[in-house]
Amino acid sequence: MPDDVAPAVRILPMDLNEEEFRGKSAEQVQTDFFLRDLPSGPRSGRYAFKKAGLAARGGTVVLFQYDNRIIASAALDRVERLKRPKGEYHGNLYFKVESIRVFEPVGVDRVNEIWPIVKRFNRAKWRLDPSRYPEFERGLAGIQQPPAAATGRSQALDLDAPPADRVQATVTRIVRDTLRANRVKQLHKYKCQICGISIMLADGSPYAEGHHLQPLGRDGPDVAENIICLCPNHHAACDFGAMRLSLDELRAADGHLIGKRYIDYHNRVIYRGSAHAEP
Ligand SMILES: [Zn+2]
Repeated sequence: MPDDVAPAVRILPMDLNEEEFRGKSAEQVQTDFFLRDLPSGPRSGRYAFKKAGLAARGGTVVLFQYDNRIIASAALDRVERLKRPKGEYHGNLYFKVESIRVFEPVGVDRVNEIWPIVKRFNRAKWRLDPSRYPEFERGLAGIQQPPAAATGRSQALDLDAPPADRVQATVTRIVRDTLRANRVKQLHKYKCQICGISIMLADGSPYAEGHHLQPLGRDGPDVAENIICLCPNHHAACDFGAMRLSLDELRAADGHLIGKRYIDYHNRVIYRGSAHAEP
């Protein structure tokens, strides 16, 4: 934050039961979500919300409340309400990636010193006096921001050098091609379950990639129900959340049952919406 006063300050209670956060400590959510996932990908800064969302304008400083502590802050860029809700999700909050910060979690006592209106944390999205925000900010310790590579990426997808997350995804893809994934690829005869194409290598052998619908790094199990066989293009599209998946439209193979819950996970957590969505 610059020295000038934020237009508004709000507390946003996070849902501990969200699949992405479930069972995670505040520190894990800081590392995995705020420093890694939120700043990354083609629709970086996106935070999906359920029913009510947050009625706030751009520039509003949002304090993220997780497990009874404030664990992160970010400046709101804009609010997107979906014309047709996707399941429980009714829209997205977009945050300015370069404004994302985590810090030593702040308890309600400290918040109460600065904003006496807040006596306890609950589901309330408190509207706080922005003139008091600089004092709150001065008390923060251990501030961390997403790696520089993660910021400013949303406008820079076409640069010559791939963004760091693409490089990482490529590496991950190789590392995570498990025995189970190989089995799934064999069942599909290395044909992509989305387009049916199989890449032919120079030696005449077919090539495909196994994709974990719920990533191993996000507690996804290494079981066939969580794996699909894809061509590299569709694998990248799925990794980056560019595609929604439908169980009915995926090509089937005898002996391979896909778990609907993993398709649902992809659509709910990984999928980032159509590139042509309204602003
Ligand atoms: Zn394909």
